[in-house]
Amino acid sequence: MKFYKGYIFDMDGVLYLGDEVIQDAIEAINLLKSKDRKVMFMTNNSSKLSSEYKAKIKEIGVTSVEENEVITSGDVAAIYLKKELQANPDKKNILCVCSDAVKVLMRQIGMNVIDPKDYKNAHYVIASITTDFNWEIGNYAANAIAVYGAKFIGTNPDVAKPVPNGEIFAGTGAIIKFIETASQTKATIMGKPYPEIYNAVLQRMEMEKTDALMVGDLLNTDIKGASDFGMDSAFVLTGLDKREDIQRYGITPTYVIESLMELLNF
Ligand SMILES: [Mg+2]
Repeated sequence: MKFYKGYIFDMDGVLYLGDEVIQDAIEAINLLKSKDRKVMFMTNNSSKLSSEYKAKIKEIGVTSVEENEVITSGDVAAIYLKKELQANPDKKNILCVCSDAVKVLMRQIGMNVIDPKDYKNAHYVIASITTDFNWEIGNYAANAIAVYGAKFIGTNPDVAKPVPNGEIFAGTGAIIKFIETASQTKATIMGKPYPEIYNAVLQRMEMEKTDALMVGDLLNTDIKGASDFGMDSAFVLTGLDKREDIQRYGITPTYVIESLMELLNF
């Protein structure tokens, strides 16, 4: 395997699977860091702040990790909307159909988080995972977009994820679909497999796309996104997708690995 200057790790299914830590992965990451490789952690999950993920990554055994080495789809939305705000400083009203973490990020960049009942004055609608979603807020959001011209941003497209009891947990993508369907307007999505998050992570790393490797367990997000973006990828079999899924999805990773220790075979 090629020795890259930088490595971007998806988290769930790569560093841990549910509550179970994948020890090989932690060891490999610590070894890469000891060889002065730049390491980033990237997740579509915007329910927590990067500071909270940093604490978790440290707790599971990565010896050194900085807050700016973690990027969530919420952080990418903040980077994107900060630029929008710089271009149009008077457009700062945002209707949040999202977690408290994303609301914190929106306030940090100077957005005015409005009461959803004030939807007629929204310049932006942002959707991300929230268990407070209901018809009323979905309808406010759809009206803000379809009738009052608000721009529609989604943090990530994940529709549902499996949970330990064998059921599924409906995700951000399901909330986005409700608002898209009602407003007949497509959201601009920040997370994998869309390019915005790959651009943001490379900018943080101060690297070209050819210098970095994306390591993930999901073919249609981590690996498809890297491949569409023109970045090499390693598909690791410790997560949800299996080797057979490569053919099923028709998505070809640069490498297929069983353990992150294989990243050290250069
Ligand atoms: Mg994953």
